[in-house]
Amino acid sequence: MKIFTLTCDRCGTIVAANELEQRRVMKCPGLNCQSVLQFEDLAADEREHFFENRNEYSI
Ligand SMILES: [Zn+2]
Repeated sequence: MKIFTLTCDRCGTIVAANELEQRRVMKCPGLNCQSVLQFEDLAADEREHFFENRNEYSI
């Protein structure tokens, strides 16, 4: 199973795509970072792959 991640372009914090998918929009968990990360920031092909395999990602 491939893990998709999004890297904050401000602080480099890596966020798991499945966490983003659940929240759609979330504040970057990085220390003192005010960036807002969105599921839509993932590349289109990554989102597509994620949805095709989303059953594997649900806990
Ligand atoms: Zn950040």
